[in-house]
Amino acid sequence: MGTRLSEIPKAYDPQIVEARLYKHWIEKGYFTPKIDCTKQPFVIIMPPPNITGELHLGHALTATLEDIMTRWHRMQGEPTLWLPGIDHAGIATQFVVEKMLAKEGKTRHDLGREKFVERVWEWRQKYGNNIAEQHKRLGASCDWSRERFTMDAGPYRAVRTTFVRLYEKGLIYRGERLVNWCPRCTTAVSDLEVDHKDTNGNLWYVRYNLKDSSDFITVATTRPETILGDTAVAVNPNDAQYTHLVGRTVVLPVVGREIPIIMDESVEQAFGTGAVKVTPAHDPIDFETGQRHNLPIINILNPNGTMNENAGPYRNLDRFECRKQLVADLEKEGLLVKVEPHQHAVGHCSRCNAVIEPWVSKQWFVKIAPLAQPAIAAVADGRIKIIPERFNKVYLNWMENIRDWCISRQLWWGHRIPVWYCRDCNEMNVAVEEPKKCKHCGSTRLEQDPDVLDTWFSSGLWPHSTLGWPDKTEDLDYFYPTSVMETAYDIIFFWVARMIMMGLENMGDVPFRTVYLHGLIRDEKGEKMSKVKGNVVNPLDLIDKYGTDALRIALSTGTSPGNDIKLSDSKLEASRNFCNKLWNASRFILGNIDETSNIDLSKAKLTIEDRWILSRLHRLIQHVDQSMKDFQFGEAFREIHDFVWGEFCDWYIEISKLRLKDKENSPLPVLVHVLDTSLRLLHPAMPFITEEIWQNVRPLLGGDVAESIMISPYPTADVSRIDDEVEKRMAIAIDIVRAIRNTRSELHVEPAKWIEATIAVTADMKQAIETQAQSIEILARARPLTIIDTAHERPDKAKTIVLSGAEVILPMSGMVDMNVERTRLQKEIDGCTNEIARLEVRLADEKFTSKAPAQVVERERGKLTALKEKLATLNERLSEL
Ligand SMILES: [Zn+2]
Ligand SMILES: [Zn+2]
Repeated sequence: MGTRLSEIPKAYDPQIVEARLYKHWIEKGYFTPKIDCTKQPFVIIMPPPNITGELHLGHALTATLEDIMTRWHRMQGEPTLWLPGIDHAGIATQFVVEKMLAKEGKTRHDLGREKFVERVWEWRQKYGNNIAEQHKRLGASCDWSRERFTMDAGPYRAVRTTFVRLYEKGLIYRGERLVNWCPRCTTAVSDLEVDHKDTNGNLWYVRYNLKDSSDFITVATTRPETILGDTAVAVNPNDAQYTHLVGRTVVLPVVGREIPIIMDESVEQAFGTGAVKVTPAHDPIDFETGQRHNLPIINILNPNGTMNENAGPYRNLDRFECRKQLVADLEKEGLLVKVEPHQHAVGHCSRCNAVIEPWVSKQWFVKIAPLAQPAIAAVADGRIKIIPERFNKVYLNWMENIRDWCISRQLWWGHRIPVWYCRDCNEMNVAVEEPKKCKHCGSTRLEQDPDVLDTWFSSGLWPHSTLGWPDKTEDLDYFYPTSVMETAYDIIFFWVARMIMMGLENMGDVPFRTVYLHGLIRDEKGEKMSKVKGNVVNPLDLIDKYGTDALRIALSTGTSPGNDIKLSDSKLEASRNFCNKLWNASRFILGNIDETSNIDLSKAKLTIEDRWILSRLHRLIQHVDQSMKDFQFGEAFREIHDFVWGEFCDWYIEISKLRLKDKENSPLPVLVHVLDTSLRLLHPAMPFITEEIWQNVRPLLGGDVAESIMISPYPTADVSRIDDEVEKRMAIAIDIVRAIRNTRSELHVEPAKWIEATIAVTADMKQAIETQAQSIEILARARPLTIIDTAHERPDKAKTIVLSGAEVILPMSGMVDMNVERTRLQKEIDGCTNEIARLEVRLADEKFTSKAPAQVVERERGKLTALKEKLATLNERLSEL
């Protein structure tokens, strides 16, 4: 061997190791793929986090899963690209910077557009790299040399080119439509940015008098101020009570405007009085009714949510103040029939929580149906696979009902719409580059549309704009379509659907082959994490406390696609313990190797336990390979974890200690082989600790070995190592040890104490057990250990455990002081009996069962059942003594 191993530190210190290794990996350029046309690349484009973002656990999960895939594919020798980026996040960023200005007592209007945008750029320089730095701490092996920002020159040109092309194809148009309007942000927001919250409101019943008549009709509304914008009253044609009124005219209360009573099938007879007011400018259903009947559209709101000139006497009042005054006025005039409490959903801005108003305004739209059709086909015919599969239906259902997409936002931060209006001929100029003069009349008096594009317009282009589109670049040619889009399931419509539509439109091919949707992270009680609840956890704090690898393993182990994940301190602690276990086992193995050690597996003489651990290892590799291919990362790493902890550390290493000094039968070749392989198996999930240990293993491996674990090959199964017979024989020995250990702990036998044990085995298993007798003795601390044939006479007062193929007989006297144990058990039985009696009284009390909350009663019942079971076990134990 030649090299003598340097002593590796006693304890694993993630803080020191992580920073050093990450820097080293970057310097070596391992994260940057080499384009090789003979190989199929593996590509993930990272969902770009918002620049406003601080890393939260959702990002940590995204980064962990994507890094697992990336590292796994890289270790398979594929050119692997994980491209990172950041989103300018129009509305979110503008909101944050406006809040910052507010602290200085300013609004964006005080600064003006240009200065304000400058401030946002400054802010971006200062904070925009936070999230990248945080990703580095997570060990993300993305190619930072290809990092992109949605407002970079490349993506910027992609956005403008797409806009112009869609416009020229007639797929982008400008129109007066009803949009969701946030009066606080003074911009349109998409349907997806509106949170519908159940609110306790009122239903006001208002009397509209008929013109030139003492007759009247009563309508019900949840927003009385919109009366000012009514242009009709509608009734259902089948509603007999109103047939005689259809075609008549009513006079609007307060403002005195005259409007018709019309018939429309959409009116629900059961709602309110069955007669409804129609306000096309401020309600989506009314807007459509208005279109069908050619009703005028009367807008009563200013952009900031105050009433405009159409509101007559209420002009300039805030919308909610107007509501109050109008209701008071109606009451005064005797037109308010009644008020009923009414619970209904009210839309709130997901950014600032202001109540959203449906509002008619001039906006830009993408005509979505022609883009949706190919995107539906791509998923329906399997060119894009969604994992988990149940989201296929959700996607298809949503896409089939998709409506035109309002892409203009009345914001200052974002991609400005590439449309210039001519002040002389009033025509539009739509172009990628700013035109010098009007193409219609030659005038130079041009003015750019003030609006910016919805953020999702640029992120919809992400998989091809990051690779160089609209240019024909080598990257675009080689890396598109990408392999996997990995993101949270709640973003499938916001983003995934748009990338599919835009990718197909611009590139003529799908943007990715697989969509992997992960779940949301919840706290240990299963609650969603939110600032309001105060249960948000900063991943960096967890990294400081437990180390990156522990956090990554806690996030990825035992999770499955599309299902929410519970994260608890105990899970993180267990993960950290696993890191320590791995570290200590490695130290033990490496500490026993010197220059005279033979560690060549091909020359080793293998014992039954050697053959067993190798068989288990290669069977594990087979399973892991399948799980990784099936995107079942949680399952893959749970299996590796269980193998390393249970079979390798707790079993094989322990029994190998018996022959460490045996030069003829040394376990070292197997120990080194299994350690090296386990480290490589674990590397995608636990990059740091595995590299740190592996650098100590590497000099032992000989031959042509990679310089880093992250570019060494992922293990492949050697099926010739898999041996069912050996596994079966060892399984019995393991079962015996487990049974003895369980009994010891049940009876509180001191760990250091040796106890007597007899094992009765069937003839065919006798030899197998005999060869493992010494291991069983050591691991179960059972001595003397006697192996007998079955049907032997049993010792009196013994605990017997029946296993398949063997019976374990443990004399009580050897384990416990009978008198002490009897007293102890009796005490426990008494305590248990008292508690049962107390609970029974409580549950028999009708006052308690009828008044306490159902879940409390349920909990008490559960306690009672558990106690009764415990009592039975205790009594059984006592009778055994
Ligand atoms: Zn808002
Ligand atoms: Zn012109």
